Amino acid sequence: MFAWKPSNGTNELNLNNDLHEDMESFETSLESLTQESCSSKISNEKPKRKFRDAWRDKFPWLRCIMQGEKTLMKCTWCEKYASPGPWGAGFGCITLQLDAILTHVNSSGHKLCASKWMCDVEGKAMSIPKHVSQLDDLNKNKVITTMKLMYFIAKKDLSIATYQELCDLAVLLEVPNMPKQHDYISYTSRYGGYEFLVAFGKYLLEIQSSNLINSPCYSLMLDESTDNGLELHLIVYVTYLQCGGCGPKQTEYMGLLKIPNGKGRTIYEHVKHLLGD
Ligand SMILES: [Zn+2]
Repeated sequence: MFAWKPSNGTNELNLNNDLHEDMESFETSLESLTQESCSSKISNEKPKRKFRDAWRDKFPWLRCIMQGEKTLMKCTWCEKYASPGPWGAGFGCITLQLDAILTHVNSSGHKLCASKWMCDVEGKAMSIPKHVSQLDDLNKNKVITTMKLMYFIAKKDLSIATYQELCDLAVLLEVPNMPKQHDYISYTSRYGGYEFLVAFGKYLLEIQSSNLINSPCYSLMLDESTDNGLELHLIVYVTYLQCGGCGPKQTEYMGLLKIPNGKGRTIYEHVKHLLGD
């Protein structure tokens, strides 16, 4: 637009007119550009976020609450167990963003409530490794390794006193993910091993009870005995059909009960309690 031309009267006038028109169009375009940038700035400052129904399909625990003009999100699992924070015992999450939901999914509080919900409400007893995988714990892999060692000892019917020695050997052989410390609260002590053993027992009993409930029929075998300390015991074996009645029969040891006397009523009450009433 500012092309140079030889200087004579007509050309000079044309140049001035052109320059004036160009300046006017430039000012107009600048004005419109400023308005656009202002309006876009305002829209960036106040984005309208909404709760999306599709989130409910992906996260079944998600709950949307309308409080006046505010929309809040809560977690039914964390609410049930009164987990601290806005999703559980608190007021509710006001950030209507997928990132906020994902942050909650990965929180240790939500994982703990999810595990409780699965066991209590949905009746799904998760495997121990799955439970451990849900724990937000840096020692997770160390716990899994030591649990495997304790499970080996239990399977081979070895003394629990050998657990600590087996852990020492694992440390010496530089087995990955082995705890290095040896105090009584660490996972390698016999007390830690005993805790694992109790956890295994509870889990296996849950599985066994679940198999019994799913079987259309089962039978019990009871045997009374008296040990050297003159204490009465009752050994319980059970036979049931696997796969909810579609599989072969299975006979398993279920428990060793200490009973005060050998009366029929006493035996009945103790066995009933073992089977979960
Ligand atoms: Zn939650």
